[in-house]
Amino acid sequence: MNRFFVEPSVLAATPQVLLEGEIAHQLTRVLRLVAGGQIVLLDGQGTEYEVELTEVRRQGKTEAVAGRITGQRAAGGEPRLRITLYQALLKGEKFDWVLQKGTEIGLAAFVPILTERCVGQGFRADRGRRIIREAAEQSRRGLLPDLADQPLRLADALAQIKEQGQTGLIAWEEEHHRSLKDLPPGLERLALLIGPEGGFSQAEARQAQAAGVEAVSLGPRILRAETAGLVAAALSLYQSGDM
Ligand code: SAH
Repeated sequence: MNRFFVEPSVLAATPQVLLEGEIAHQLTRVLRLVAGGQIVLLDGQGTEYEVELTEVRRQGKTEAVAGRITGQRAAGGEPRLRITLYQALLKGEKFDWVLQKGTEIGLAAFVPILTERCVGQGFRADRGRRIIREAAEQSRRGLLPDLADQPLRLADALAQIKEQGQTGLIAWEEEHHRSLKDLPPGLERLALLIGPEGGFSQAEARQAQAAGVEAVSLGPRILRAETAGLVAAALSLYQSGDM
């Protein structure tokens, strides 16, 4: 069944729902659903609703779809370990790729960071959120991963990690001992820091460690910046028993 994240307001007038705009277009023109068709709507906060379409209207270029909620349940698909990926901005489309794949793997949130050696620039939260939403629908996530409005400087990211009580780890290729195998059991919130194409500087790695964010190795091979966060996320979720 096709799944769509919607604004909670769409689900406020239960049991009736009215879908307009992009989602109505998708249902009628792309999926060609008709009255009687079934879909799942998600509020992005952990509940999913089964909806039967009752009326499909096409007026010229605009579409509207009415439906009726026939069931409601807690959405599955969410890991217990909430991981926020603090990923240095990357060149070109690489950051988008990380958002899409990271959502599939099970990341809870993404925060772009600016570091000394960042060459990637330009970040559009609206575009990123769209990519995340589509990936979350396709991969059957129950919650919509969060994306920060704008990039944070490393120092601000470190402050945020501390403030939110997250356990922070910085992936650093010069660390040769500690790995994600050492993740504390029962961990609920993890922040993973990944550098840009040129890596973190020594000073940045020290700065993170001074802020209580320990360095971890991702193994003896150097991964590309856009690969490292995804590997770190998958290993952490595996280690926490989610995969
Ligand atoms: N500066 C390096 C590579 C940077 S890789 C060089 O050019 O040789 C980009 C980022 O991926 C790094 O900042 C780090 O966060 C992560 N990373 C890649 N491979 C890693 C590994 N084997 N161990 C830990 N972190 C790694």
